[in-house]
Amino acid sequence: MTRFLQSLLASIALLAGMSGVQAQQAAQPPFATTKVEGTDNVYIFRNGGHQAMFVVTNGGVIATDPIAYGRPTGGQTYVDEIRKVTDKPIKYVIYSHHHFDHVAGGKALKDAGAIFVAHRRAKERLEVLKDPHTVIPDEAVSDKGRTITLGGTTLELTYHGLNHSDSSLVMRLPKERIIFVVDTIPVGQVPGRGMIDFHPLESEAFIQKVLAMDWDRLIPGHPGPGGRLGTKKDAQDQLALLQAASAEMKTLAQAGKCWDTAEKEFKLADYASWPGYANNLQFVARRYCGLWGRGT
Ligand SMILES: [Zn+2]
Repeated sequence: MTRFLQSLLASIALLAGMSGVQAQQAAQPPFATTKVEGTDNVYIFRNGGHQAMFVVTNGGVIATDPIAYGRPTGGQTYVDEIRKVTDKPIKYVIYSHHHFDHVAGGKALKDAGAIFVAHRRAKERLEVLKDPHTVIPDEAVSDKGRTITLGGTTLELTYHGLNHSDSSLVMRLPKERIIFVVDTIPVGQVPGRGMIDFHPLESEAFIQKVLAMDWDRLIPGHPGPGGRLGTKKDAQDQLALLQAASAEMKTLAQAGKCWDTAEKEFKLADYASWPGYANNLQFVARRYCGLWGRGT
C-alpha cells in the first residue's frame, strides 16, 4: 500500500471514529485463509474479526470454531475455504469454548460429516441454551483433557480451570509448537466485552499455566495487530495488564468507590497506546469493580 493510501485510510478511519484495528479490518477482505508460516499443514481461517485454526492431515481435517455468529453463510464459507486447500474429509470440529461468536454456524461442517468436540462445560451449557445456530457437541472432553491423533498429527486438548469462560480448551500442536487459545490471551490488545464472562484471579493462574507449556507461537481467536501471531512475551504482557488492572481497581474498590466513581477514575496509563484502550477500558474496569468492590 502506498504511503498516500495509508494516510488516506487513516484519515477516513479517524473521521468514522474507528480504532486502528477496526480500520485495518475495514481495509481487509471479509474473510481469508492463510497458511501458518513454517508449517506444512496448519491454517488460519479468518472471518471478519474472528479466527479459527484448522489442520490438514493425511487422515482428514481437524477444524476448530465455526466463527459464524451473525454470518448465515459463514459455516459454508469455512467449508469452501478448506476445500480450496484439500479434498480430505473434515473429521473434527473442536470448540475453543462455548461463546456463540466463536461456535455458532457449524451446520455446514456437521453436514460435511465432522464430529463436534468440546469441553464438558461447553456441551452442558449449549444443551441448556439451545441456540438455533449452534451445533451441540457430539463428544465432551473431561477436565483431564484429550489427545486427538489423525493422519500423523497430534493435537492436545487441555483444560486448566476457569479463565475466560468455564469451558476453554487450550489446543496445542506439540510438533509445530503452536497453541490456539481463544479470548483469554488477546495478542497486543486491551480485552473488551469478553470481560463479561471472565474470572479475573483464575485467568492469571491460567496464563501462568499456559506460559509453562511448551510452545513458540499462539494463534488468537481475534487477529492480533497486523494479523500477527502471539508469543510468550504477549502472554506475559497480557498477564501484566490484568495484574495492573486488578491492583488499580483494588485500591479504588476498597476505598468504597465502586461502581460509578471507580469506573470513572480507573486508568491504565501504561496501556493507553494499545489497540482497544479507549473502547475497552470500561469493560475491564467493571469486571474488576465486580471483583474488588463486590467480591464477585
Ligand atoms: Zn469468548
